[in-house]
Amino acid sequence: MSSVDMETIVSLCKRRGFIFQSSEIYGGAGGCWDYGPLGAELKRNVKEAWWKAMVHDRDDVVGLDASILMNPQVWVASGHVQQFSDPLVDCKACKSRFRADHLKGDKCPDCGGELTEPRMFNLMFKTFMGPVEDDAAVVYLRPETAQGIFVNFQNVMSTSRKKLPLGIAQVGKSFRNEINTGNFIFRSREFEQMEMEYFVKPGTDDHWFQHWLEQRFNWYVKLGIKKENLRLRPHAKEELAHYAKGCYDVEYLFPMGWSELEGIANRGSYDLEQHSKFSGKDLSVFEEETKERFVPYVIEPSAGVDRSVLAFLLDSYHEEVVEKEKRVVLRLHPALAPIKVAVLPLSRNEKLVPLATEVHASIRGCFMTQYDDSQSIGRRYRRQDEVGTPYCVTVDFQSIEDKQVTIRDRDSLHQIRIPIDTLRATLLAKLGGEDFDVLPPGGSLVTGGKSQLG
Ligand code: ATP
Repeated sequence: MSSVDMETIVSLCKRRGFIFQSSEIYGGAGGCWDYGPLGAELKRNVKEAWWKAMVHDRDDVVGLDASILMNPQVWVASGHVQQFSDPLVDCKACKSRFRADHLKGDKCPDCGGELTEPRMFNLMFKTFMGPVEDDAAVVYLRPETAQGIFVNFQNVMSTSRKKLPLGIAQVGKSFRNEINTGNFIFRSREFEQMEMEYFVKPGTDDHWFQHWLEQRFNWYVKLGIKKENLRLRPHAKEELAHYAKGCYDVEYLFPMGWSELEGIANRGSYDLEQHSKFSGKDLSVFEEETKERFVPYVIEPSAGVDRSVLAFLLDSYHEEVVEKEKRVVLRLHPALAPIKVAVLPLSRNEKLVPLATEVHASIRGCFMTQYDDSQSIGRRYRRQDEVGTPYCVTVDFQSIEDKQVTIRDRDSLHQIRIPIDTLRATLLAKLGGEDFDVLPPGGSLVTGGKSQLG
């Protein structure tokens, strides 16, 4: 399990400006969260890492950005209007509400009171399109991004000049009126999803299902999640949707136990068949080589942005003692770290400022940087460690003489001294994943590198 409890992460997130309660000055809004300056960077980085792996690095996947409000028929065809419901029970004594399928016993977990019979509660948020608030104007906030992909399948096929197998990827907000929210950003009412529908020829679906199980598991590992905290759990028969041929959850060992980060399903041809039936449009494809016509099968990896952010925070959190002082460090993968490089002049001395400003100007624009000159250098290092900044560049008095600066590595605490004119290239190489201890020409390893921490 991640070595940290949820309270520690919630408090770090608030204290350092990662995540705040939504509308906090009004007492909050149930199950809604706001990402502060560092959280917004982290979340963007998670989405960009997903987009890069799923779209930019592949020839067989393209992107999409569909609208949140859709024709309400979409949700009839998808089955959400009839079936996207959870069993709701009320406690007759204390009036608390629960999802019946999340309860262990048949009494209220809060007060031991008697519970009502379960009744089905649809999780879609409703609103009205246009000025008249009647039944004909009801529309839904999308509860998943996937349907935007299915209804655009034909548009994308015919305009991208791609053949099957073809994936369509989308990242965006989804809304579910969850009965119980909780575990911080794990379960909220407004959240973001990263979904991809991978359309394949029937008969090749088992192969692609395996492919995506591996790809998706490895994505989390490559971005730093420890393998022992991740597992692929196959759905039991009774958990599977009636049309699904198979489904696995990627689960992370959160402080509350193993819980879903992402679902990966073989959905057969269900979605396209349903939309074909309800829209009256033929959504089959014609394969030139075999002269066959068929409705593609779909493999769907569906991940949560917010749950991934939480897992990355929990998994990267470390506390250690360095020179008799507690050090908190987020060992975030450099691709995810909100700030990549901090530029720290040793002091605010007026002789140092021009050079430090110049150093900062020479690297900003390449990646997210921060210039920090307040308080002691040791405290500034610790502040950067706590938010996961991989590299700190220190400008000291010697820098004025020898035109060199020190780069400090967040994880090893090693320091190297390199010429300023190689700084930008060195940092770019390091942040691209190259070994830290490779020195550029003219660089040297600083001995006793940990001593500036205190
Ligand atoms: P759960 O069983 O936890 O309610 P689900 O199986 O209904 O989740 P999916 O419909 O498969 O979830 O959605 C895909 C992904 O979207 C989930 O793996 C999760 O990461 C994310 N997700 C779903 N609901 C929420 C929510 N209420 N808050 C945050 N993320 C969510």
